[in-house]
Amino acid sequence: MKGRKLLMIPGPVEFEPAVLQAMGAPTCSHTAPAFIDIFGNCLGMMKKVWGCSDGQAFIMAGSGTLAMDMAGANLIEPGDRALVISTGYFGERYAELLKRYGAEVTILKSETGGTVPVSDIENSLKSTKYKLMTFTHVDTSTAVRVDPRPIGELGRKYNVLTILDGVCSVAGEEMQQNEWGIDVALTASQKAIGVPPGLALLVVSQKALEVWRTRRAPVGNYYCDWSNWLPIMQAYGDSRPSYFGTPAVNLVAALEVSLRMILDEGMENRIHRHWSIAKEFRSTMAGMGLKMLPLREEDAANTMSAVYFPEGVSGSDFLAAIAESGVIVAPGLLPSLKTKYFRVGHMGAVNNADINSTVAAIEKALKVLT
Ligand code: PMP
Repeated sequence: MKGRKLLMIPGPVEFEPAVLQAMGAPTCSHTAPAFIDIFGNCLGMMKKVWGCSDGQAFIMAGSGTLAMDMAGANLIEPGDRALVISTGYFGERYAELLKRYGAEVTILKSETGGTVPVSDIENSLKSTKYKLMTFTHVDTSTAVRVDPRPIGELGRKYNVLTILDGVCSVAGEEMQQNEWGIDVALTASQKAIGVPPGLALLVVSQKALEVWRTRRAPVGNYYCDWSNWLPIMQAYGDSRPSYFGTPAVNLVAALEVSLRMILDEGMENRIHRHWSIAKEFRSTMAGMGLKMLPLREEDAANTMSAVYFPEGVSGSDFLAAIAESGVIVAPGLLPSLKTKYFRVGHMGAVNNADINSTVAAIEKALKVLT
């Protein structure tokens, strides 16, 4: 198509034609039997993708921040202590969000491009009793991936709820929510889940629901309150009509198609595809003399990359030159380094042809500008 560009930002990403087609189908009633089936199927498939067979899935109209808000609103009461493990911009966002609900927040910040040492997290948990801790599986501002396993273990050991912001990881990075002991794993539709922006998706452990049930005060956010939404999710799961707020019918229809494609590919194959594309991309960048923002290769995400601009080249000229070749990548996001690096999303429906076009566009920009 003339003028069409390849969207290689870390969300929204390129979507499968079948997913877009489902979005364009005539809108049905949110209580129609066919839609109830679609919604119920999505809830069931989410639990498979998340690796959380006994969790409760929630599908909400909204963006990833709403998913973060839903966990915060329902699990925090004024005066509760929360530990935020921050590897970038979205960790900071979670700290601000939790404060709105009256949490006393402690932030453990990593050095830029690094992760917070597990021993630092354990020391914090030893010295203070927290109700919950949050961490960003892949922080989209740094492309740093955090290993959820030791954090889940610490959550169990110190009886602290764990919230995983998986907006830039779920369905692109390995996820075993049950096994790892993660209480809330949340994401949004527009990234590795492969559906246009507009859905906030969460899977919540029974333990987190139990903590929510024993709240002293009502949830201070009407729209997010699980009292309003849990019966709706349960009704859809049991094939019964129900209503609290109108679901994003067409997006949910698209979600069903995408989740089915994800499970048909197989989680292991899908994670492997993301791993191999990311690895190849990073080594090609290194071959061109471009440096990655993550300090250690083993902390670099498979869903996206953050790459420093070449020395002496203006970032905006570099991005414009890449766009000239028909590829859209994203500028930096971390306030302290914003003009120094760019970000490339390689998740969801991404294939070798997409990444090759991106590499070629970067190579050409390098030739023209250096
Ligand atoms: N967390 C992470 C890790 C993200 O990447 C994003 C979006 N880039 C968000 C939270 C917020 O999601 P949204 O923009 O959909 O509100």
